[in-house]
Amino acid sequence: MTGAPDVDPEPPYRLAEMTWPEVEAAVERSSTMLLPVGSTEQHGHHLPLGVDVYMPEAIAERVAERTGCLLAPPIWFGVSPHHTFKPGTFTVESETFQRYVRDVCVSAGEWGVESVLLLNGHYLAQDPELDIVVRELTTEHDLRAFHVPLVSVFEDAARESRESAVSFHAAEFETACMRSLFPELVRMDRAERVDPPDNALPLTDYDAYGDNRVGWALSADRMDELTPAGHIGDPTVATVETGDRLIEEAVDNVSGLVGALAGSAGE
Ligand SMILES: [Zn+2]
Repeated sequence: MTGAPDVDPEPPYRLAEMTWPEVEAAVERSSTMLLPVGSTEQHGHHLPLGVDVYMPEAIAERVAERTGCLLAPPIWFGVSPHHTFKPGTFTVESETFQRYVRDVCVSAGEWGVESVLLLNGHYLAQDPELDIVVRELTTEHDLRAFHVPLVSVFEDAARESRESAVSFHAAEFETACMRSLFPELVRMDRAERVDPPDNALPLTDYDAYGDNRVGWALSADRMDELTPAGHIGDPTVATVETGDRLIEEAVDNVSGLVGALAGSAGE
């Protein structure tokens, strides 16, 4: 048959690759923007510095492909004073970080973005800052904003598939996600189990899913005392299959929220 219409090319969603007229058209289709927020920090001997950005950006990319929402360039630097005892770690002050993330979102609001999801790959450590940013964006800048720590959106899969008792930093969950997403960046031959010292405070029993419901706090000094290698937990049990499950569940959950936003008033 002749005259068949050309297949429409995939609409663009990566803001950094678009022209401004393309962005102008894109915000008419979707006014929801995903902003991956991470940190550039040491992740032990077996994972690269960019883990906390690579994970949320890859998840966001899949969500954007599925839903047609916009994907912003990531925030590469976060609040990581507890990791500066190893080279390659960057950190910014809490207030600097809050203002920077807030200003990025507010500027997107000026050209049509109405909803922002902060996909946080440096979860636990910069949750307080992003909770405050979300409150400000919502109450003072008329944006719908959500703080989405990855540890929340893959919680069910993590609880069901975990093998290790401790998965605190650069351990089972992060290693599994990275094996699934970027296997070429994971040095499994250098992965080793690091248990927290017996006399250490229980943090959250060493990950967000522990039994300690009282809360957690962490200082630079204490992280240094906890682990000479830089990670805490057992990355050796991290499998590609677990990583696939975590990523799939995260993509499903975030896509669900984006879909709900698209169907609600204002979109
Ligand atoms: Zn990390």
